[in-house]
This record gives sequence, C-alpha cells and structure tokens, in this order.
Amino acid sequence: VKVSELVEESYQRIQEVESKVQAFLTLDEETARAKAKQLDEALGSDESNQPLFGMPIGIKDNIVTKDLRTTCASKILENFDPIYNATVMDKLHNAGTITIGKLNMDEFAMGSSTENSGFHKTFNPWNTNTVPGGSSGGSAAAVAAGEVPFSLGSDTGGSIRQPAAFCGVVGLKPTYGRVSRFGLVAFASSLDQIGPITRNVEDNAYLLQAISGVDPHDSTSANVDVPNFVQSLTGDIKGLKIAVPKEYMGEGVNEEVRQSVLDALKVLEGLGATWEEVSLPHSKYGTAAYYLLSSSEASSNLARFDGVRYGYRSPNAKNLIDLYKKSRSEGFGEEVKRRIMLGTFALSSGYYDAYYKKAQQVRTLIKNDFEDVFEKYDVIIGPTTPTPAFKIGEKTSDPLTMYANDVLTIPVNLAGVPGISVPCGFTNGLPLGLQIIGKHFDEATIYKVAHAFE
Ligand code: GLN
Repeated sequence: VKVSELVEESYQRIQEVESKVQAFLTLDEETARAKAKQLDEALGSDESNQPLFGMPIGIKDNIVTKDLRTTCASKILENFDPIYNATVMDKLHNAGTITIGKLNMDEFAMGSSTENSGFHKTFNPWNTNTVPGGSSGGSAAAVAAGEVPFSLGSDTGGSIRQPAAFCGVVGLKPTYGRVSRFGLVAFASSLDQIGPITRNVEDNAYLLQAISGVDPHDSTSANVDVPNFVQSLTGDIKGLKIAVPKEYMGEGVNEEVRQSVLDALKVLEGLGATWEEVSLPHSKYGTAAYYLLSSSEASSNLARFDGVRYGYRSPNAKNLIDLYKKSRSEGFGEEVKRRIMLGTFALSSGYYDAYYKKAQQVRTLIKNDFEDVFEKYDVIIGPTTPTPAFKIGEKTSDPLTMYANDVLTIPVNLAGVPGISVPCGFTNGLPLGLQIIGKHFDEATIYKVAHAFE
C-alpha cells in the first residue's frame, strides 16, 4: 500500500464521522499529504522495513508540534504555533509516521471526560450520548472511530487508560521516565507521561518502542535499556503470578465491571497463570493525595501563562499586574482556575505541612504498597474504571464525582509504575477496560499478558 493511500483513507474516514465524534482540534492535511508523497517517492517500489512507516497518527494537543498549532484545548494558547518539536515528535518522524492532526482533550489535561475542552466536546463513538473519557478523549475516540490507527495521549492520573477503556481501545501509560516529556506541556511534572493509544496490543508495543528512551532534554527520562517489546508477545504466560487488589473489586465498582474482570481472570487461568487476592491498603487515599499534589504542581507549571511570552494577551489591561490578571482570567477555563487556586493554597506557607507534605507522605505509602505486592507477583490486574462511559453532562456540575472516577488509575501514577487498559467486554453496548499494572520498566510483561488475553 502507498503511504498516500493510507493518508487519504484517514482523511476520508474523518470526513465521514468527524461531525459526530469531533475528536480533532486541528487537521494538518497539506503537510500530511506532502510528506506522504515524499515517502512514497523515496521508497519507489521498495518496501520499508520500519513497522510504523507511513502510518497515520493523531497527536494529543498538549504535545508541541513544530509549525502546527498546539492549544492544550485552552483559549490561552488559541493561536500558539510552536517553533520546535517535542522529542516524541522527532522520534515519530524518524519512524516514518504521518501526523494527521491534533486531538481534543480537557484543557491542560485536567478532566476525565473531555468536556473541559475550551473549544468543543468530543463524543464516544460507541454511543454519542456518552463521554469518550478524558483527558485524552480525542486520542481514544479518533482510534475507536477508525479516523487514525495510532494516537498519542498523556496520562497524569489516568488520562490514557480511562478514555481507552471507555472507547474500547488499547492505551498504555509507560513507567515514569520511559518516554521523554520534553515538549509535553506540563500539568503535573512528577506524574505526566506520554503514551500510545491503538486498536491492538501489537500496534501499541510498536508505538511505545518508537517513542521510548533517555533524552538529554528531559532530566527525568530514564537511562535504562529499551527492550524489544514486540518480541515479548509470545502468548506464553504459563506460571505467571497475578495479584488482584481487593480494593479494586469492592464497593463503588459496578457489578458488570467486576464480572468482566473475573471473566478475564478465568481466561488467563486457562492459559496457565494463577491469581490471588491482595491488598493495596493505602490506595483509598490516592485520589485525595493526587488532586492535592497534581494541583500544586499545576499551579506552579501554569504560572508561565502570563500574557507576555506567548499565548493570549488581554486587550483590556491598564498596567502590568492588570495584564497578568486579565489575560489569565479571560484565558483559562473554570476547571483550570479551580486547580490553580487549590494548588496555590496547598503550597502557601502555613498550609504546606498540613496538605502538600502530608500528600507526599501518602504518595510514598502508596508506592510502598505496590512494591510489597510486586515482591511476590508479576502483574496486578483489576478494572480500569469503576463504571463504563457516563452520560455527557452527568458529572459536569460536581467536580468531586468527576474526580472520583479516577480512583483505580491514579495510584499507578503516584507509584510511577506502568499500566495498560485493554478491552474486556461490553455492558449495554459500552466497552469495558481491563487494567494490567506492571513493575517499574516492565512494560514487556504487561504487553505479554495483554496480548495473550486479547
Ligand atoms: N482526570 C484526572 C485529572 O483530572 C487525570 C488527568 C490526566 O491524567 N491528565 O486530573
């Protein structure tokens, strides 16, 4: 197949379904077509031996793309055209992928439904009355709707895995440090990771392979070997030890969701794995600690949007302080302001020890919970989300119910370990996700299990 044909197929599909799904914020048709033509010409009648060569991909709009508008779905970056590429974009370029466009998200990745986008909502392709999840809702919906076979999302507290679960696709949050964050607009720097969203596990492994690795531009990227992920897709999981946290299967988890995980465990047992119930006793404090810590980091990271250096500048300002205030008040949406206020409060002197420090201590306890379990088990398995996709508008009036949706994904970010969501059935026509969590830098085992299961 010619690269140009793949790219045309992608834009054709977008033309067919985009009015219903609304996954994209920006399309990059001219550049994509020109690059496809270039690749076709360079290759002639040869075949590429690069697995991702010519593959159309969509990119979450918080990953900076040179000369291609990058908004973070925020009015404050409405007209921002970056002058450099994120490291993952350079790596994708080397792998030969074609960027189709930039994908919708919750503003600055703060949200669980993509309803916090400053521009428009995205709709779940399986049922357009329901949300696609978030904050990488555009990235998951575009793959689920067949608009692109590959996309990149980012995951700070579940934003790859939760939308992947809601949209019935495969989404992986890599180990913290596996993928460079250079050029990922920071939300909470100690938690953020870029990761792949795809239709199946093999594609996912190829995409992670392409974007992984230490980067001199990101001091938190890890100097560890990147194994050949696709080679681990052997189907052989005999003797594998699975831990199932009781906190992930109890109260608050929908009955169909629970049942789908038990069914999945049966399948894995049939393949020679064994499972036992374990406890992650501190995971119940995860959500509270996460919103405290992530908002604190966000309040600091988002200080750079001041109306001076780039992005929106209020035309109504009378002096410098007024310029900061008006640009930020007019540019940021409601949820972003809520987090900045919460984070600024938590970091202020007098409250720091009571909130920020306490939350950091809880984070350590959660990390230790995971380490204890991983001394005896190879992977941890549970649901990705307590429920299937919820209705558009159902949780927008109450931020706390929206936050509670992330209870099963957040501990993974706090511990820094990798986790995947793979489709594991349907209820009422809506997909469900199975979450497989691995040891630090052991995405290979996660992929092996996910591949054997799918
Ligand atoms: N839903 C969570 C939040 O609103 C997680 C977001 C994310 O992972 N980017 O913070």
